[in-house]
Amino acid sequence: MRVTVFRDTEAAEGPRPVTRAPKNGDNLAPALAASAIEILARLIAFDTTSSATNLALIEYVENYLAGHGVVARRINNADGSKANLLATIGPAEARGLVLSGHTDVVPVEGQPWSRDPFTLVEDQGRLYGRGTADMKSFIALALAAVPYLTPRKMTRPVHLAFSYDEEIGCLGAPDLINALVAEGHRPAAAIVGEPTEMAIINSHKGIHLYEVVVTGREAHSSLVHEGVSANMIAIDILSVLGRIAESERTGHRNARFDPPWSTLTVGTIHGGTAANILARECRFTFDLRTVPDREADAVLAPFWVAVETARTRLKAEGAETGVEVNPIAQVPPLRREEDGSAEQLAAMLCEEAAPAGAVSYGAEAGQFQIAGISTVICGPGSIVQAHRPDEYIEIAQIEAGARFMSRLIAMTHAA
Ligand SMILES: [Zn+2]
Repeated sequence: MRVTVFRDTEAAEGPRPVTRAPKNGDNLAPALAASAIEILARLIAFDTTSSATNLALIEYVENYLAGHGVVARRINNADGSKANLLATIGPAEARGLVLSGHTDVVPVEGQPWSRDPFTLVEDQGRLYGRGTADMKSFIALALAAVPYLTPRKMTRPVHLAFSYDEEIGCLGAPDLINALVAEGHRPAAAIVGEPTEMAIINSHKGIHLYEVVVTGREAHSSLVHEGVSANMIAIDILSVLGRIAESERTGHRNARFDPPWSTLTVGTIHGGTAANILARECRFTFDLRTVPDREADAVLAPFWVAVETARTRLKAEGAETGVEVNPIAQVPPLRREEDGSAEQLAAMLCEEAAPAGAVSYGAEAGQFQIAGISTVICGPGSIVQAHRPDEYIEIAQIEAGARFMSRLIAMTHAA
């Protein structure tokens, strides 16, 4: 594992001094930023693409925390190949602050990277590597704060909540959140450190991913009465999905989002084996992103009718035919809270009190919220650089995140 941070000569002086009048705790920020970059180099070196295990990274974080006297708890996935990590620092109090981050990253395959994606490289004020923006920098900053969190002096706890499989439908977080709540904690706020350039986000869309498998019966393409083409059945269902996507553009708009409607798109279609064979199978996936005030069940009602119609039609064709609908991921939206404590606390930790915004991407924030924890998204880096080749984060963003963490340290020690 490579852990070197490469620096060009220009950027070698380290973090820029804070010139603004420091708020309480700001004096720690330069040291926090430097330490976060060292930790980030370690985190980036673990290839935690969602298809792979994240256990090596988890073990590193466990060891780091143990080195600072913090006991962390793993919450494993079903086959033990991945784990969430949960740690509480400070008193067994309500009013805690959850710092939440996902450890997985999206694949680099097929992307034209000009550098090794799993080696952190500094160049012209930017740090390059897969996960720098989305979202290992926030995890690195949270870990960099740990040595400054002194449990016997803390007046409210900090909960570190690091998940797996966020990028493939926020699959790991529910067990992590359940464990946190089952331990009896009642946090005042969860801050999900997705890249927002340290702006506060109080709403995101919900995600509903489905796979549909249509099974027909093969026959020569000229003998359409001898079999049934799964592709032809799928087209009927797909056309209904197309109509849903179109009608959502005009109904139930929410101007806080871009685009301001619930979106539906068919991501993959695989059907049939040859032009002259009635297709035995057609498999497709679709992705619905709902604005918070639009229920997915209502959006998808015409889809379920189409599925039932197809099933009725196939019944006459034999028992081997049918339509299967498999939910892949269901992520609740993050709804704007009236006087939410997370938004208030985040505003105290951020530099500017700009009004909180909304994002169209899904995240784990809605999952914390439905567990009864006030939640916002706020983290360093930009979503524009996420998921791309040559993903990077501006060092200035790490520094802004370090100022956030230094204020959080002060807040958790304040009387
Ligand atoms: Zn992310």
